[in-house]
Amino acid sequence: MNCPRCNQQLSIDYINDCKTTIEVDRCTCCGGIWFDKDELSQIEGIIEPTFIEIRHLPDKKEQFEKLHCPKCNNSPRLQKAVHPRDKKVIIDYCPYCKGIWLDKGELEAIQQESFIITIGKIFNFLSCLRTHK
Ligand SMILES: [Zn+2]
Ligand SMILES: [Zn+2]
Repeated sequence: MNCPRCNQQLSIDYINDCKTTIEVDRCTCCGGIWFDKDELSQIEGIIEPTFIEIRHLPDKKEQFEKLHCPKCNNSPRLQKAVHPRDKKVIIDYCPYCKGIWLDKGELEAIQQESFIITIGKIFNFLSCLRTHK
């Protein structure tokens, strides 16, 4: 898979947290991370669905740039999900394969909390969005 932002090959990376290890695809160029649905399903069940606080975001223009899903062959565009409590937070997700793309600024901010718990919160938040549409 290639990075939806810079089109570089993503490399496999592992995140150890909460006594769990998840495999993710990281871009060594821009620092973004792609989470597959399979990767996310590993952390389901250990997560409480509450809201997230994210700081130090990429600039607005960059966040609204249309990105293609790195996983889907026919490359549908990633959808933008705006955080209900903080409109500055925009998360890219694929409605087809249900993966999530996080930019580096978002990652740095969420690492202040337990990484896996935060990702789980984002995942739950997006699941709710998908259910109610
Ligand atoms: Zn990149
Ligand atoms: Zn996809």
